[in-house]
Amino acid sequence: MTSKTACVIGANRGIGLGFVEQLLEQGYQVIATCRHPAKAKALNKLMNKSVLLEIYPLEVTDDKALEAFAKQLDGRAIDRLIINAGTAGKIGVRHGNPIKRNNLQQVFNVNAISAIKIADRLIDLVSASNEKLLIAISSIMGSISDNTSGGSYAYRASKTALNAMIYSFALDVRGEGIHTLLFYPGWVKTDMGGPNALIDVATSVSGMLNMMENAREYATGSFLDYAGAKMDW
Ligand code: NDP
Repeated sequence: MTSKTACVIGANRGIGLGFVEQLLEQGYQVIATCRHPAKAKALNKLMNKSVLLEIYPLEVTDDKALEAFAKQLDGRAIDRLIINAGTAGKIGVRHGNPIKRNNLQQVFNVNAISAIKIADRLIDLVSASNEKLLIAISSIMGSISDNTSGGSYAYRASKTALNAMIYSFALDVRGEGIHTLLFYPGWVKTDMGGPNALIDVATSVSGMLNMMENAREYATGSFLDYAGAKMDW
């Protein structure tokens, strides 16, 4: 086993899968989670080519599944914990359209509540590593000051809540030497970003990984884009 281990939460497709690919190329042992390992074609293909990849099941909203996952990792160290899983929820909700309570709850549950639960449950493994990096994938949509177009109440607020919680968590764990960054990955061509997005997965992921190399140049809890620009809260 190599001395560097990364854990990517929500790695079945899109940006999460891109993290797995590039981290493997960099020689990291990669712990990748997805909801249905047996159906995770791209991840299984990578695992057939690389002994460095491990795949675990994790529905992020399932606390029992999180507990089982964490128990399997007992005694391990995670240099980079990358919390990436996210959902846009129902698209097109704005003033005049029905605001559904269950959509708000589900999007908050995945994007915000699950992220802080995962960070809290796995942070001791990050603490046991050399790099000690906690990374959460946020969005420009979580920035209140950048919001000029309205709409997307659930997604926007869930990412604002993610920022608030992870920032606070970053302060709580900095004494253990843990360094935390929140990233806006850019507008990325994925199922979520759509085909008109501005950049591809490889560009976004390599930008964020480059910044992780120099993570401690930024204050812990910083909210940054994939190219290093500071994001407004
Ligand atoms: P995708 O929709 O392509 O992928 C989302 C990933 O999250 C999938 O692997 C999905 O798993 C996983 N996921 C969603 N819900 C759950 C859940 N309940 N439990 C476990 N895994 C779950 O999105 P992207 O790759 O584009 O997005 C990745 C992150 O980047 C998200 O946090 C997103 O908010 C953020 N982001 C993306 C932008 C973009 O332009 N693409 C812009 C700004 C932020 P499954 O395959 O099983 O559904």
